[in-house]
Amino acid sequence: MSDLDLDPTQLERYSRHIFLDDVGPDGQQALLDASVLVIGAGGLGSPIIQYLAAAGVGTLGIADDDDVELSNLQRQIIHGDDDVGRPKVDSAAEYVARLNPDVAVNKHHSRVTKDTVGELIDAYDFVVDGTDNFATRYLVNDACTLAGVPFSHGAIFRFEGQVTTFTDASDSPCYRCLFPEAPPDGVVPDCATAGVLGVLPGTVGCIQATETVKAILGRGELLDGRLLFYDAMDMSFDTVEIAKRPDCPVCGDEPEIDSVHDVEYVDSCAVPDRTELEADD
Ligand SMILES: [Zn+2]
Repeated sequence: MSDLDLDPTQLERYSRHIFLDDVGPDGQQALLDASVLVIGAGGLGSPIIQYLAAAGVGTLGIADDDDVELSNLQRQIIHGDDDVGRPKVDSAAEYVARLNPDVAVNKHHSRVTKDTVGELIDAYDFVVDGTDNFATRYLVNDACTLAGVPFSHGAIFRFEGQVTTFTDASDSPCYRCLFPEAPPDGVVPDCATAGVLGVLPGTVGCIQATETVKAILGRGELLDGRLLFYDAMDMSFDTVEIAKRPDCPVCGDEPEIDSVHDVEYVDSCAVPDRTELEADD
């Protein structure tokens, strides 16, 4: 690939990438050629979509079935006051169009289900999970793991966030290696009432966007096999190693799950408690 793939406007728009040895014109072209599916255009999805669009990721899929609500605007910064009542995929797509005309947006205005997830993720190089419920989180994990599609996981709860990246490397764990089952419905507070610091998903989503860009560039060390914890109150970041489990029901030696249709996905939200993970070690 040569510099000539980028037109003069692109050379200027992406000049601060092109100056970097680890990106350069070839890396920028890889970003422009890449396709990324962002599931959820909410608190995590907002900064993910913003930075991937600004970086020139050429095709962005945005999957979300919700409309913008007034209570979203405290953290879901791609939507504005005038967007209340509109589908989030519409205001997200308009945001991207204003930011960067190089980016084509595919709007998927429906909930990701067992019936749609396979076809949806197959069309993309990388998936970013920015959902807030266990049903979709496990569905995305199982579908991506079975299909060998790399993906970023992010979760937020009150003042804390978690981020990791799963790849198709043979020693890469999956979300079920961390938390084999979702907690029973009703055990974790409902996300509509639990509360979340508005800026928290900004930090977590930016880390997910960073991982996505690195995965496309093939540069740096991904959070593959590591779970990053962020505590906004302590302003601390901790990383815990996560290993692939031989008894994992989806990526283990004798997996019980070989299709998303084998699984009943329980709908609840929030994130597993960190103490649950530590007790497991
Ligand atoms: Zn696994």
